[in-house]
Amino acid sequence: MNRPLLDHPAFARHFTPEHRELRERARRTFDPAHLAAWVHGPGGHLTKTQWQELGRLGFLGLSLPRELGGHGLGLLGALILSEAAGQLGDLGISLGLHCQIEITAEWLATAHEDEVRRRFLPGMIAGRLIGCACDTEPGDTGDRQMAATAVRDGDELVINARKIYIVNGSNADLCFVTLKIDGEMATAVVEKERPGVQVLHVFDKLGTRSIDSAFLSFTDVRVPASHLSVKRGVRQLMHWNKVMTAARFLMSADACILHRSLLHRMLEYGKARTVEGRPLASWPVQRQVLARAAADQELMQAGLIEGFEQLVSRKNAVAEIAALKWFCVDRTTRFAAHCAEMQGGAGYMWDSDFLRGHAQVLGLKMAGGSLTTMQTIAGQALAYREELEALG
Ligand SMILES: Cc1cc2nc3c(=O)[nH]c(=O)nc-3n(C[C@H](O)[C@H](O)[C@H](O)COP(=O)(O)OP(=O)(O)OC[C@H]3O[C@@H](n4cnc5c(N)ncnc54)[C@H](O)[C@@H]3O)c2cc1C
Repeated sequence: MNRPLLDHPAFARHFTPEHRELRERARRTFDPAHLAAWVHGPGGHLTKTQWQELGRLGFLGLSLPRELGGHGLGLLGALILSEAAGQLGDLGISLGLHCQIEITAEWLATAHEDEVRRRFLPGMIAGRLIGCACDTEPGDTGDRQMAATAVRDGDELVINARKIYIVNGSNADLCFVTLKIDGEMATAVVEKERPGVQVLHVFDKLGTRSIDSAFLSFTDVRVPASHLSVKRGVRQLMHWNKVMTAARFLMSADACILHRSLLHRMLEYGKARTVEGRPLASWPVQRQVLARAAADQELMQAGLIEGFEQLVSRKNAVAEIAALKWFCVDRTTRFAAHCAEMQGGAGYMWDSDFLRGHAQVLGLKMAGGSLTTMQTIAGQALAYREELEALG
């Protein structure tokens, strides 16, 4: 269990010398000892200066193709970054990177017009521009229809929206706002500096604290109409889900890597800690928990390998990855809670790695869509696979 996930031959065979060099560099950069110097105050989030440093180190355009100014290291490059950022003990930076690279930069690269892409993408890759994906809305939207709107006014759009729990929301320079226009779902790029954009609140959180999560409002914000990306009907949602799929895959990997390290540490702890003269891990109840966790780890690894192959061969894996995210995050959350319990009173103290692990993975339950939503996507795809594949 202490062999890193990416050393598995199924991943290792895809490594190029550039991937190996990246892995070394990322491991050195994401040294847990550096974390305190990167964030605002104790338990605070990444600073803008640090984002620029990540850009300077070449981490922010890793998976984007070279013709768009990226490094062309693909999904494996993103996985390598996730593996390294996972060492930090706080999954916030991993989430922030997924939002910046796999969600917003990817959306800009694949869904927007050339002119908009050329204006913003180089800044995102360099870390001068931070992106946030503004999808979730506060409160009960009744029939769950999007309340955010844009209306056309000549060559401009006028946007009204309220978006909550937005990763990078406070630091962001570019907001990718999901909204409705002319009855269709769409996304508009809104520069944060435009009049009418406000950060209403920056949340305090249980875990993923190294990245900010904010509540944003957009009141009569005007942007050029070219900032809109809209496709007719269900295609917009399909494209959004495709982009989110890479991020969900990486969140699955984040959970699996965390689970793997918790299992390794719990095996060590369970052997060393004795109860009534016997190692804790040898008691039937604990043995069963550990056996289940070992089996879950094998299944997560198999799912990640399968998902990786599907994504690199550009198959539509929206449903499979939704199911994978549900499985990896659900199993890791349960196991982390068991681990904290197996530590006794120490598992309630904040310096417990198991308790901290639990706090991190709880955030992944909602980030990228709730586990219920993952089950819904996976279930719908089972029922309508042929129709979805026909949509591409
Ligand atoms: C760490 C973190 C990062 C996030 N980052 C972002 C971000 O960058 N951008 C962004 O837009 N949002 C972000 N979010 C918000 C996240 O996407 C939402 O919280 C999530 O999609 C759930 O939506 P909600 O909060 O409106 O809850 P709801 O959807 O109202 O869910 C409330 C409860 O109802 C359940 N539920 C939902 N639908 C059903 C159903 N049909 N049947 C039964 N139960 C159901 C859910 O599982 C949940 O338990 C983030 C959240 C967290 C915690």
